[in-house]
Amino acid sequence: MQLIARFALRRQASSSEFMAGVCLVSGGAVHLRHKSARMLQALVRDGATQDVSILAEGDDLVGQCSCGSGPGEVCRHQVAATHAAWLQLSADE
Ligand SMILES: [Zn+2]
Repeated sequence: MQLIARFALRRQASSSEFMAGVCLVSGGAVHLRHKSARMLQALVRDGATQDVSILAEGDDLVGQCSCGSGPGEVCRHQVAATHAAWLQLSADE
């Protein structure tokens, strides 16, 4: 799921938000709270701490973030959460 998520988010996020999200991950700003096949929850420190959740619905990903990004919008915190989960998954294998 994480692999799919990564590419789906890359497609939905603007490239600047995508890069900002990857930077947050390398800066250690992401704390994964919950990770399952269908859901991901994370806290992302970016000035304030943002509460991010990503749900897999079929082939679609529905992300929510406390920073106030609109529906269908993919903010850097959502990118960061998904990217961090993907990295952790690759490290586990
Ligand atoms: Zn956000």
